[in-house]
Amino acid sequence: MSTDHFLDVAGRSPGDVLSHHKLRRTQQRVTLLALIWQHHPFHFTADELYRLTGPSNALSVATVYNTLNIFLAHGLISEVVTRHGERWFDSTTTAHHHLYNVDTQTLTDIPTALLSVAFMESFGDAYDVDKVDVIVHVRDRTSQI
Ligand SMILES: [Zn+2]
Repeated sequence: MSTDHFLDVAGRSPGDVLSHHKLRRTQQRVTLLALIWQHHPFHFTADELYRLTGPSNALSVATVYNTLNIFLAHGLISEVVTRHGERWFDSTTTAHHHLYNVDTQTLTDIPTALLSVAFMESFGDAYDVDKVDVIVHVRDRTSQI
C-alpha cells in the first residue's frame, strides 16, 4: 500500500507525524497510521486493523497492539472502552461522545455540541474537568422482546 498520499489536517504525511512525535519511522508504523487515516473517521479494534493490513504486510497481531498503544500514548488516536470492556480505537482525537449499538457492535460519534452534561456544574470549584467522554449504549428496537 502506498502511504504517501495520506495526510493529516496539517498536510503532514504519516512519517512526518511520527518524526514530529519523536517516534521511529518504521514501515509498520507508517503503514498502520496511513491505514487509520485512510478510514477516518474510524472506530476499530486492534483485530480489525490487523485484518485490514492484509497478508502482504506481514505484521503480527502483537505488533499491531503494541503500535496502537504507542499511537495512543502520543495522542495520535484515542481509545473507547465499552460496557463489557471491549477496547476500541478512534481516529478522532478531539473531544466527542459515542453511541454504541450493543446489537450491531458498532460505535458512532455523537458531536459534543449535541450532548450536554449538566451535572458538571455541580462540581463547583472542587475539580477541573479534564475530559468528558460519554458512551450511550443502545439496542435496536426491533431486537427487544
Ligand atoms: Zn469517535
